[in-house]
Amino acid sequence: MTVSESKLIKGATGDWEVVIGLEVHAQVNSRAKLFSAASTEFGGAPNSHVSLVDAAMPGMLPVINRECVAQAVRTGLALKARINRRSTFDRKNYFYPDLPQGYQISQYKSPIVGEGEIQVDLTPERSIRVGVERLHLEQDAGKSLHDQSPTMSFVDLNRSGVALMEIVSKPDMRSAEEARAYVGKLRSVLRYVGSCDGDMEKGNLRADVNVSVRRPGEPLGTRCEIKNVNSIRFIGQAIEVEARRQIGIIEDGGAIEQETRLFDPARGETRSMRSKEEAHDYRYFPDPDLLPLELDQAWIDQLAAGLPELPDAKKARFIADYGLSAYDATVLVADRDTADFFEAAAKHGGGARDAKAVANWLMGDLSASANAQNLPVSETGLSSGGLATLVDLIGEGVISGKIAKDLLVMLLGPDRGADPRALVEARGLRQVTDTGAIERAVEAAVAANPGKAEQAKGKPGMLGWFVGQVMKETGGKANPQAVSDALKARLGL
Ligand code: ADP
Ligand code: MG
Repeated sequence: MTVSESKLIKGATGDWEVVIGLEVHAQVNSRAKLFSAASTEFGGAPNSHVSLVDAAMPGMLPVINRECVAQAVRTGLALKARINRRSTFDRKNYFYPDLPQGYQISQYKSPIVGEGEIQVDLTPERSIRVGVERLHLEQDAGKSLHDQSPTMSFVDLNRSGVALMEIVSKPDMRSAEEARAYVGKLRSVLRYVGSCDGDMEKGNLRADVNVSVRRPGEPLGTRCEIKNVNSIRFIGQAIEVEARRQIGIIEDGGAIEQETRLFDPARGETRSMRSKEEAHDYRYFPDPDLLPLELDQAWIDQLAAGLPELPDAKKARFIADYGLSAYDATVLVADRDTADFFEAAAKHGGGARDAKAVANWLMGDLSASANAQNLPVSETGLSSGGLATLVDLIGEGVISGKIAKDLLVMLLGPDRGADPRALVEARGLRQVTDTGAIERAVEAAVAANPGKAEQAKGKPGMLGWFVGQVMKETGGKANPQAVSDALKARLGL
């Protein structure tokens, strides 16, 4: 693992380096909100998940949700970060129509999690390490609805008070590609831990993207912060257009002003929202309604012991235990469901099968089907045992690879849940290795095409055409090597 290698951008006056730091807001996976018992369920009728605390009724007091704290600690441990046994909550004061308290409860000087790091895989062989500055807990705001009425705006407070983890990176990334890979890896880790489901379409993971440019070797330039970018693709696009914009300004003799900007994907540009506010503008102060959060080391140790095997460790183990390539292992571990499915199939019934073949079928046709249906691989209809049997059938020479593809289509569609071995028998899909049957099919193909058989003698390239004819005749079930051998003998090649 190395530090980032710069990919320089060519400007009119020379090379530029882009510097990126991300603030990722990850919605905590918990049933109740950070300081109230209201549900965090997505998609409820507007204002159906709002307690008196979330609505900021007078006299209401926040009560910390233990599970949200546990999720933040688990995440911090997975990021190899320092867990702060003592942290505090602060009020960040600002007016928002969808934040009835008039302030957000956040953590400022003393966050729950301190410095950590993430290994980011750029290619299976090349990883960089990106530092994590801190992780803190804070409340989400509600949502203003401006498109419901021509004359009024509405507010939906369902999301108001839901727990967020803000995960702040160091300015360690040097290209859009690295930033995209960082978010992808962070999302994978959050999903393994179970602390955030990482669904960017639902807004469960959003990033504020800080971008600056500088001449290689110079100190950091002034940054702009692009707010609330909600897809990995847009994060990459926003960085590229923002870096170009900044280079253009500096090369024209101007200077970058620190500000908050918005990315407009339709127009492919960033636009100024407001000049950068400073921390003191928010009048942070310790929330008098909440005691400092103090954690027992024994509880932290217990959470650490409950963590699952994480992607980096799993990748190393898959390479060592199953002889997979770094590429295959990287693809398989990115998603925990896929990794578990692979391992269950490789080990099924004792498991002496070719793990590489299991990986290939899983990453190929099976993942394609899962992606097309937007389902995890474990829910496509084929069990891990079913995949193991399919690979075994090929290994035993019972079916060819081509028949296996057809068989998989059946198992994912009309024959969901069937046992692959029984299905092969029921449909008569066994590969024909019986030389008598193959010779009869060869004879028939030659008899039906006497002219071509004659031509083939001088043109061995015709062999492939005849193999195709025989395969057609046998419904694709003949062993291709046996067919080729029989044809060569019959045609005298
Ligand atoms: P704030 O809290 O005001 O947004 P921080 O210092 O916490 O400021 O930084 C926020 C984010 O900006 C971090 O992810 C950090 O890595 C990133 N960052 C800081 N300086 C730069 C810079 N010069 N260029 C790009 N990103 C930067
Ligand atoms: Mg910021």
